[in-house]
Amino acid sequence: MKVLKFGGSSVADAERIESLSKIIINEHERNAQIAVVVSALKGVTDTLINMGTTASTGSDVYLSDLETLHDRHNKVAKKLISQKDLFDLLTIIESYFNDLSDTLHGVRLVKELSDRTLDLIMSYGEQLSATIIAAFLRLKLPDIEYLDARKIIVTNRAFGSASIDEEVTYQKIRNYFNEQNKLPVITGFIAATSAQETTTLGRGGSDFTASIVGAAMNADAIEIWTDVDGVMTADPRKVPKAFAVPQMSYQELMEMSHFGAEVVYPPTIAPAMRYKIPIWIKNTFRPNVDGTKVTVEVNNQKNMLVRGISSVDNVSLLRLEGNGMIGIPGVASRLFGALARNQISVMIITQASSEHSICFGILPEYYKLARDVVDQEFSLERSAGLIDPVVVDNDVSMIAVVGENMSEMPGVSGRFFGALGRNGVNVIAIAQGSSEFNITCLINKKDESKALNVIHDEFFLSNVATINLFLIGTGLIGQALIKQIKLQVEYLRNDFNLEVKVCGLADRKTMLFDSDGIDLSCWREGLSNSTQSMEVNEFIRQMNEANLGRSIFVDCTASDLVASKYAEVINSSISVVTPNKRANSSSYQEYKQLNKLARLRGVDFYYETNVGAGLPIISTIHDLLLSGDKIHRIEAVLSGTLSYIFNEFQQGIPFHTIVQKAQKLGYTEPDPREDLNGMDVARKILILARECGHALELEDVTVEALLPQAVFDAESIDQFFSLLGEHSKGLNDRRDQVVKQGKALRYIASFVDGVASIKLEDVDALHPFYSLSGSDNIVAIYSSRYNDQPLVIKGAGAGADVTAGGVFADVIKIGKR
Ligand code: ADP
Ligand code: ASP
Ligand code: MG
Repeated sequence: MKVLKFGGSSVADAERIESLSKIIINEHERNAQIAVVVSALKGVTDTLINMGTTASTGSDVYLSDLETLHDRHNKVAKKLISQKDLFDLLTIIESYFNDLSDTLHGVRLVKELSDRTLDLIMSYGEQLSATIIAAFLRLKLPDIEYLDARKIIVTNRAFGSASIDEEVTYQKIRNYFNEQNKLPVITGFIAATSAQETTTLGRGGSDFTASIVGAAMNADAIEIWTDVDGVMTADPRKVPKAFAVPQMSYQELMEMSHFGAEVVYPPTIAPAMRYKIPIWIKNTFRPNVDGTKVTVEVNNQKNMLVRGISSVDNVSLLRLEGNGMIGIPGVASRLFGALARNQISVMIITQASSEHSICFGILPEYYKLARDVVDQEFSLERSAGLIDPVVVDNDVSMIAVVGENMSEMPGVSGRFFGALGRNGVNVIAIAQGSSEFNITCLINKKDESKALNVIHDEFFLSNVATINLFLIGTGLIGQALIKQIKLQVEYLRNDFNLEVKVCGLADRKTMLFDSDGIDLSCWREGLSNSTQSMEVNEFIRQMNEANLGRSIFVDCTASDLVASKYAEVINSSISVVTPNKRANSSSYQEYKQLNKLARLRGVDFYYETNVGAGLPIISTIHDLLLSGDKIHRIEAVLSGTLSYIFNEFQQGIPFHTIVQKAQKLGYTEPDPREDLNGMDVARKILILARECGHALELEDVTVEALLPQAVFDAESIDQFFSLLGEHSKGLNDRRDQVVKQGKALRYIASFVDGVASIKLEDVDALHPFYSLSGSDNIVAIYSSRYNDQPLVIKGAGAGADVTAGGVFADVIKIGKR
């Protein structure tokens, strides 16, 4: 025998019922005996509960819902059944609705809805659906019978979630099948007491009905037909990358469903497990997909360390603590005894080893009762000040990773909590079953989605990581970066399993967010159509609110304001990547603090492009220092603009002509004084000195002025150029002399024995800085290992493409971690 159960979404409307009939006909042809169990039409149980609740307030507002519900069932019947048999079916439907209407009217009059009456109200959902489906199947197959489960399933009087009397129930089921040879369409979810009062088996209980029938008949299989391809690695509504698992053990499914995976109602598993009946989870919408097979043991799946991740998004956490608890035996048993006496079931328990506190998680609807009964239980200790009143936290989610292969495998919890920690998810309490089949923890509800997704990535897609960028600044560098990402996305995905998404973007005016990734082929339109004005605090707020795992804040501005927010960003466990030098060249205290904070939060603060654009200068210094080298001296040409100017200058052209040309070509800042005053170079050598471990401030860098102060004091750029012509004769003369001696003029930043300075120097043809061209930067590092011959890094030190490339490389470095 095979039992087939069809859930609410599989019987949602006439089309779905037609599809499921094909599945049933197919099975009927292959199997000697089958039984079908059905749920109410999708959403009907919820509507019935709402109507009952509304009626109990004395209101008649439920009447319109009642009519709509009646209509919906009539419509389904009319679509499925031809004229000849329709009248009979509509008459039965009508009589159900008359009874239901009477019951609701009664509830309205007495303004009271007992659990018992609610069970009766809910039972109409399954009575209606099974009646319609049986009528339809009767047109296709012989010997179809509508079977009201109240005739075969006997329970206690725990209305709302009744327990079955196994012996009587199993016997009744066996008798039913022994006595006749029909194909029953059984109402799921509902049952009756021995006194024929209607009960229900708990929400989602139709699965349980199928399992009870299967176990009683020692069936070959129980098939749960639903709207997903099987049991998935996580709830697909919360984790878009979740996928169906081909096999799973009963134990694993039990843990998954107990911890919130609603794909199967938890009590379903025990009867199947006892009789070793395989449970299949299959998709009515895609019947040819294999689905998940649940059995005692799973073969050949040793590589799947974790089978799935579940979550319960509404847990109340209660904490009992106090000095009086230490060393006193029996506190836990009194606590849980008090809860048990009040039928409050506890989902998770943790106790500090000091025995100073016990935490436990329960469903929120019980928290007030739980708090009161526990406070009551310990009232004597409370008045003696030994135990504090119970503390309640209602914004908590519970997450569990489940898998039999986890047992005795070291390192699983390390990966679990590591993934949470790196993404700033604070863990409130932890529990691990001694079977080691699951690790469970409680976290803040707001972090649930992020936590599920990063854990899912960690265990199932450790080879496919997603990084979510929040980019401010769409100037030359920002634009170049977006272009590079767009071109590279596919390659990174295919060859490096790295998914790069831009989830937030802002220019000076507007900002734009999309957690699924902004379409980079039309980001300009996106920004210009956006109605959200750019405001950096709001940008950060929305980035935090999106709460995506592996987020990176990319600052492609030169703004002090944006730089001043890095600490806040890092504090929310988001990495920062930037070419903006402002933060690292402000006070040493701030520089140090940002780096320290990043280490503390387990995130990255990368700024390779602060110095030398895309050249690997900072990372090289790090590598040298980490591997034990000592850096004594750095000499460098660090301004692409000045490098260009002095390279051209060497040709004999007057200084002011070159500056004018460079400005026209866009190689200088709009006001060239910002390049010529040496401050940009000073910031860069300062950062390198700090990277070498020296606590320098910007004022400590001595800068030799290239030009007399009068030039810098000019009131306008035009005036600056005319003053430049007058005052650069000295420079031109010096150049002529230097060239005659076969040398070149270079504006060199150096850092020697803790002292940073910038000077205009002449270098001979043997010096590594002699032959520079274009906007080359060059850095010579002298260290204990690179003593006689320095380590030299040279190449283009300016330009949007190389800088954006460096930013992108920093981003990828984080993504690959
Ligand atoms: P039915 O109406 O068929 O009984 P349910 O809604 O009770 O279906 O259960 C199926 C739903 O369970 C799926 O649509 C899915 O959204 C949800 N679900 C939650 N966790 C999981 C999981 N781990 N695997 C599969 N589905 C899950
Ligand atoms: N119709 C019931 C419910 O919605 C039972 C079920 O669908 O399994 O809870
Ligand atoms: Mg269900």
